[in-house]
Amino acid sequence: MDLVLYLLPLFFLMIILPPIERVEPVASSIDMVEIVTDPDIRITVYNPEKSVIEEFELEDYVTGVVAAEMPASFHEEALKAQAVAARTFALSRMHGLYGSTENHFGAHVCTNYKHCQAWISKERYLSAYGDEEAYEKIKRAVNDTKNVVMTYDGILINPLYHSNSGGVTEDVEAVWAVSGQVPYLKSVYSVDESNYNQYETMVVFTWEDIKNRLLTKYSQAEVQSGFNKEIEIMSYSASGRVQTIRIGNIEMTGPEFRELLDLRSTNLEISFPDSETVEIVTKGFGHGVGMSQCGADALGNSGYNFKEILEYYYTGIRVEEIKQ
Ligand SMILES: [Zn+2]
Repeated sequence: MDLVLYLLPLFFLMIILPPIERVEPVASSIDMVEIVTDPDIRITVYNPEKSVIEEFELEDYVTGVVAAEMPASFHEEALKAQAVAARTFALSRMHGLYGSTENHFGAHVCTNYKHCQAWISKERYLSAYGDEEAYEKIKRAVNDTKNVVMTYDGILINPLYHSNSGGVTEDVEAVWAVSGQVPYLKSVYSVDESNYNQYETMVVFTWEDIKNRLLTKYSQAEVQSGFNKEIEIMSYSASGRVQTIRIGNIEMTGPEFRELLDLRSTNLEISFPDSETVEIVTKGFGHGVGMSQCGADALGNSGYNFKEILEYYYTGIRVEEIKQ
């Protein structure tokens, strides 16, 4: 019911969205970034937990995304890079690029991190973490990059990001074949991310569990006994992640296998310690495309500013500011 109340203002919002103008890129020194105040940009956000569409000032929404998506303990330049990525994500959707608004009843974005970007309110952040200082640090990162976005060929990019690359990021088409190649979402070596607890995880399954998950998802699945011959990695992507894998008579993509077993990444090794157990060690956390958040923090610690961090992970992009 709440949704209906928001439909009318949404209609007007779609009309008054300002166009994005191409401007000169910001200089490499972050002090040179010209800040343009633009208080009129508002975004509609579908919150599936509450089943409502809420409207926010863009910068307030971006603050909530950075708070939900990156630890405040990360380097301030990493937080700024995250803010620019979150803002670019939001504005690109507001301009009808990349995402489907059908899943949000017409809202620009949603708060489901698997579909759009995670988001948390200030109240919830403070009650969950109770740290006003941390929230202020996030807010500063957003303010310091106000109106700064990423473009490629004059168009807002699709700034995908993930938690930890495990050492190398992934080509977008290896994860989403349908997207095809995207010049700025190319695999790059990332700095050492092994100091982060998102780097390596071991998960232990029983063969029975894997078999049950397989049979639930694929009704035509057939598996024989002798299970260690029934799971076989068929091919790897250029970045070393699993591209195709077979379980019994079912061949699936790495991302499908990741989803089946709820794994952290497709950069993985499988071993069979005994006759009933399957051990899977994954490296990295997330789909691996675009910016690695842990890598951004590591680059920040080694002296990169937010613009350099973004240019590192998104090949050939420009970091620019928007003007009305
Ligand atoms: Zn969404």
